[in-house]
Amino acid sequence: MTTGFFWDERCFWHGGGNYAGMLPVGGLVQPLDGGLPESPESKRRLKNLMDVTGLSGELAMRGADAATRDDLMAVHPAHYLDEFKALSDAGGGELGRRTPFGPGGYEIAALSAGLAKAALAAVLRGDLTNAYSLSRPPGHHCLPDYPNGFCLLNNIGIAIEAARAAGLAQRFAVLDWDVHHGNGTEAVFYDRADVLTVSLHQDRNYPMDTGAFADRGTGDGTGYNLNIPLPPGTGHSGYLAAMDRLALPAIRDFAPDVLIVACGFDAAANDPLGRMLATAGTFAAMTGEVMALAEDICGGKLVLVHEGGYSETYVPFCGHSVLQTMSGSTIHAPDPFAEVFPLRQPDARFDAFLDDWLAQMQGALAL
Ligand code: ZN
Repeated sequence: MTTGFFWDERCFWHGGGNYAGMLPVGGLVQPLDGGLPESPESKRRLKNLMDVTGLSGELAMRGADAATRDDLMAVHPAHYLDEFKALSDAGGGELGRRTPFGPGGYEIAALSAGLAKAALAAVLRGDLTNAYSLSRPPGHHCLPDYPNGFCLLNNIGIAIEAARAAGLAQRFAVLDWDVHHGNGTEAVFYDRADVLTVSLHQDRNYPMDTGAFADRGTGDGTGYNLNIPLPPGTGHSGYLAAMDRLALPAIRDFAPDVLIVACGFDAAANDPLGRMLATAGTFAAMTGEVMALAEDICGGKLVLVHEGGYSETYVPFCGHSVLQTMSGSTIHAPDPFAEVFPLRQPDARFDAFLDDWLAQMQGALAL
């Protein structure tokens, strides 16, 4: 059993823009040392933690070529790519919403997509049992012609189209457990019946106007998009209930050739851009569930692609728990927040509220 880990130091060099958290600096907004929440540190510290514990030594550590112009054109129109490349060459800038980039940002984004493409191809070819792509910048918010939410290219969409073009698979399921709605991936495949997109996210976080349960796809894609908005405060048991009762049955019914997870860690309890209560143990448990499902329905073919996650202290431990689970390693990094965020915070009123919340969606889906 070999788990691949796809990464590249240059992905940590992406950046740009004079931001204070989510806010462009100016007027009364004082500059902030950390800049944008989407900083390299959460990802670099995950890789560092894996090196320190020795987990890296048990994985197939891989790099990848950048996605090609043809790869990108399968998802993004030429005018967007041309505009992005020109601004990147000119020193960087901003083409969308809260998604600045510096000089060379185009090449780093293409490399980030290339990591996801290579991870998916390696698993589909049988070179690896499963794989994790530490892609940065992330991708799941990026629409074909409009970058937003720190995402400049739709990494998973590009990886899927490249795998299809190479004849490696026909049916793809994407489960997005980033705390924010996977609006970009939804948009790329909204009218397609060969890609099931499922998004678990905090209700009306970002984007505030997308991610409704009623948005099920259009045309041939009707029924092949499933949004599962969850109330703020959802924690370990709530996430697992939403997986068991809604997300996993939908994916099982779809019977994909491969399961891809848009793996954000911003549902973690101390994330600055989410209001959820997941823990490292929650991410490990969800990983175990998708591994078991993939084993049942698609020969274990499973690829995780990194999305959000803005706690520089917690993302490394959440990610380590996922990689330990994926690889079956005995190398464990104990959760330093375990006492602060217990797995299950007993609250009968919230549990009853969430049970009813999920039951309404289950009833509508007849699951
Ligand atoms: Zn996110």
